[in-house]
Amino acid sequence: MLVRLVYASRASSVLTPASFDEILAVSRRNNPAAGITGVLCTNGYVFLQMLEGGRKEVNETYLRIARDSRHHDVQILHFEEIAQRKFAVWSMGKVTFDRVNAAILLKYSAKTTLDPYAVAGPVSVALLEDLMQTANIA
Ligand code: FAD
Repeated sequence: MLVRLVYASRASSVLTPASFDEILAVSRRNNPAAGITGVLCTNGYVFLQMLEGGRKEVNETYLRIARDSRHHDVQILHFEEIAQRKFAVWSMGKVTFDRVNAAILLKYSAKTTLDPYAVAGPVSVALLEDLMQTANIA
């Protein structure tokens, strides 16, 4: 049983590129063993993350992430059972929004600011898919 979970959270302090890379490094170390794939986005203030994998593994990983003091206001935006993954090739893909074409954000929201709290969960899923199709994921 595969599931997809998308959540948003707010960085507890302004995120430096080094601390974002540290989170990504731990994710890329841990996620393959759990069969987790996905993408993690930030603009330095807000995180948007998609986790895909087995239901048990996604739940365990999400609960561990949600306890992390580096972020707060963790809110699940979207959860679904899926037949296949969208982000199978990334143990955890990386998107930093300062480098993303503002038109992609504007396509899915009222402003060019990343604010997943202000849009419906499926809209964030569509944004993440668009980022993948436009090669904005590292
Ligand atoms: P550890 O070896 O215990 O820690 C890894 C490194 O992170 C160490 O350098 C440690 O000092 C540092 N660290 C841990 N917690 C904190 C903290 N509260 N403040 C400062 N530094 C800290 N983990 C995943 O496995 N997969 C993910 O996809 C994933 N996504 C994340 C997304 C976000 C937005 C955040 C904030 C964290 C994410 N994490 C993810 C990290 C997760 O919350 C746990 O810290 C991590 O899974 C613990 O794994 P570990 O025991 O192997 O790491």
